[in-house]
Amino acid sequence: MKFDFVLVGGGLQSALIALALRAQRPSLRLAIVEKAEKIGGNHLWSFHADDVPEEARAFVDPLVIARWDGFDVAFPGLRRTFDSPYASIDSRRLHAVVSESLAATPGSALLLGAEVVTVGEHEVTLADGRTLEAACVVDARGPEGLVLEGATGYQKFVGLELALARPHQLTRPMLMDATVAQTDGLRFLYVLPLAADRVLVEDTFFSSDAALDVAGVRADVVGYAVRLGLEIAHVERQEQGCLPLPLTLSVPTPTRGPLVAGYRGGFFHPTTGYSFPVALRLALHVARSGPDAVFGPALGRLLDEHKSQLRFALLLNRLLFAVTPPQHRRDVMERFHRLPPATIRRFYALTTTRTDRARVFLGRPPRGVSLRAALAEVLSA
Ligand SMILES: Cc1cc2nc3c(=O)[nH]c(=O)nc-3n(C[C@H](O)[C@H](O)[C@H](O)COP(=O)(O)OP(=O)(O)OC[C@H]3O[C@@H](n4cnc5c(N)ncnc54)[C@H](O)[C@@H]3O)c2cc1C
Repeated sequence: MKFDFVLVGGGLQSALIALALRAQRPSLRLAIVEKAEKIGGNHLWSFHADDVPEEARAFVDPLVIARWDGFDVAFPGLRRTFDSPYASIDSRRLHAVVSESLAATPGSALLLGAEVVTVGEHEVTLADGRTLEAACVVDARGPEGLVLEGATGYQKFVGLELALARPHQLTRPMLMDATVAQTDGLRFLYVLPLAADRVLVEDTFFSSDAALDVAGVRADVVGYAVRLGLEIAHVERQEQGCLPLPLTLSVPTPTRGPLVAGYRGGFFHPTTGYSFPVALRLALHVARSGPDAVFGPALGRLLDEHKSQLRFALLLNRLLFAVTPPQHRRDVMERFHRLPPATIRRFYALTTTRTDRARVFLGRPPRGVSLRAALAEVLSA
């Protein structure tokens, strides 16, 4: 049970690290330890395809189950199409690709149904008493382990993957249809036409509390799908979640292991709850460094840049959740989606420039936002 890397938690982050390592250092021995019987849980992960650098395409492309050339957003005063590629990965494909990759790497192991109880710098202990040793241990046990201090907003959602009796007429994903009633903070519907006869429809709330009426939201999703003209044969899959969108977050720069990664380590976008682009950046860093140099200056540079991006995104969260009344959160998002496409793209990728940040604040504040309160937040950031 000795490895070069032990990856604790078989979710998105560990999967990306395993695939990046396999691509760049195929002789290393890896173990993924996951408490469930499959890796990847029950998810569909979407991302902006331009966020995948050339160096990662060969191992990310096989995970993709659907891809589109652009997407739409809709608000009461704005309908806009973005010509920017978007793609989705699902748990089933993730499990299949990662298990195959580990099986093809001599000395590697995928331990399923294996709960980890302690995570050390070079050693991991399982609930059944087994221990695994590694030159580098990565702790990617997911959002539940994220330690937050202070107030937080929530992104909560219920999504249904619908099998259709008749092919739909949709051409692109609708990332945000916020023309619907705003019942619990910002609310929007998210629609992904995954195949001619399969569509994901998800109802999302940017709310101040974590309570989610799953049955009620599910009924609303079905109602929305019917209004879209979708003829539902059956519900193939349901996903739901409540992700914290923190107003403050401290991410340390570690000098020794374990490397706390993924959502648990603060590698996610605090305003969108998405983690794919930052998880991929960290995976590439780990693969470039190898097991003995993960904690070198390159990690410091990666984290300095990530923290600078986080500061801006966290400021926006404070403006969205602490300064903007819930009924006006949609106005903030509508105004944001009028910005130049490149600024919006960089915001979602957590790669904003100084100019992007200035652009977000230029002009009069959106309806319902007190200029004085907004200024106080900006000046204290
Ligand atoms: C339903 C849903 C949809 C999402 N959609 C998107 C999206 O479209 N795009 C995007 O970028 N982000 C999305 N996110 C947000 C984020 O990307 C995901 O939460 C992502 O899966 C986080 O990756 P992770 O590896 O940090 O954690 P996870 O993927 O949650 O993986 C953590 C794993 O650790 C395992 N684990 C926990 N404790 C132990 C233990 N003690 N021993 C062994 N194993 C353990 C868990 O079972 C789990 O499999 C979504 C989140 C949810 C909940």
